[in-house]
Amino acid sequence: MTVALAEIRAAQARIAGKVERTALQLSDALARHCGVPVYMKMEHRQPTESFKLRGATNAVAMLDPEGRKRGVVAASTGNHGRALAYAARLEGLGATICMSQLVPQNKRDAIALLGAEMRIVGDSQDDAQVEAERLVEDMGMTIVPPFDHEDVIAGQGTIGLELIEDLPQVDTVLVQLSGGGLASGVAAAVKGLRPQARVIGVSMARGAAMQASLEAGRPVQLREEETLADSLGGGIGLANRHTFSMCRDLLDGVILLSEEEIAAGIVHAYREEREIVEGAGAVGIAALLAGKVMPGGPVALILSGRNIDMELHRRVINGEGRP
Ligand SMILES: *Cc1c(COP(=O)(O)O)cnc(C)c1O
Repeated sequence: MTVALAEIRAAQARIAGKVERTALQLSDALARHCGVPVYMKMEHRQPTESFKLRGATNAVAMLDPEGRKRGVVAASTGNHGRALAYAARLEGLGATICMSQLVPQNKRDAIALLGAEMRIVGDSQDDAQVEAERLVEDMGMTIVPPFDHEDVIAGQGTIGLELIEDLPQVDTVLVQLSGGGLASGVAAAVKGLRPQARVIGVSMARGAAMQASLEAGRPVQLREEETLADSLGGGIGLANRHTFSMCRDLLDGVILLSEEEIAAGIVHAYREEREIVEGAGAVGIAALLAGKVMPGGPVALILSGRNIDMELHRRVINGEGRP
């Protein structure tokens, strides 16, 4: 079960005007470093500070009238939960975000500000997921998962369409890889329009569940570890339906990065590009700086988000390490 180019094109029409059509900006500093033109897709500038708004907006737009009435639910408190709350509000429908009581107050506040209803249950992400599934059963709400869903993948894939529109001669695309919604969508779009382009996934070395699954030939679980690229944490789901096979079939490789390399990416984004990005957002830059890609022509990478605690950002910029 894969998402085809036609579905990504349909998503593009559906979300036009509801998400930013972000700039693809040349980086002089990275071009000098790599000897080829390097462009950055400015997805951290989306209104919810990450690309996840694309998939969430497309999934909300796909609801039928009954689904719209009953609203949407998610168990993510990160960029996906925020994006879904925003997309639902824009369409005037209800969103419920389930979270455990361990979720810090600042994250709760951010979601409450978007008008979403919050359900605080248990003390793990799994408890929150169970509650979300109960709301689907009992209330008929529609669950919008963060990556393993056709409408979400198609929405994220619109980044690939814009990329090829703006840089038709692209040689290598570097794409963040966690659950694989972004990588699946972008790779489907890029390969559909320019089959000779390489699409390479980038993950942190600590707990790269998709890479471990690709190596094993089936979805596997890894112990979750703390990482600067916290938005890339988490598994791909043992019952993965879409993103595992799409990443297996479409990606040309996966690059893994150390914490030091990711930190260098954040520092470069700030000092050279004058951009604040979170760890996950900086891994494309980090892969180039670490010399882990050998591009034969123009490179495109994605600044995927900027949802970083500013005290942590300050420490990374000053080389102070983690608090
Ligand atoms: C979710 C996320 C990713 C990874 O996307 P997947 O579809 O899960 O692979 C990358 N960067 C940021 C900022 C994210 O929020």
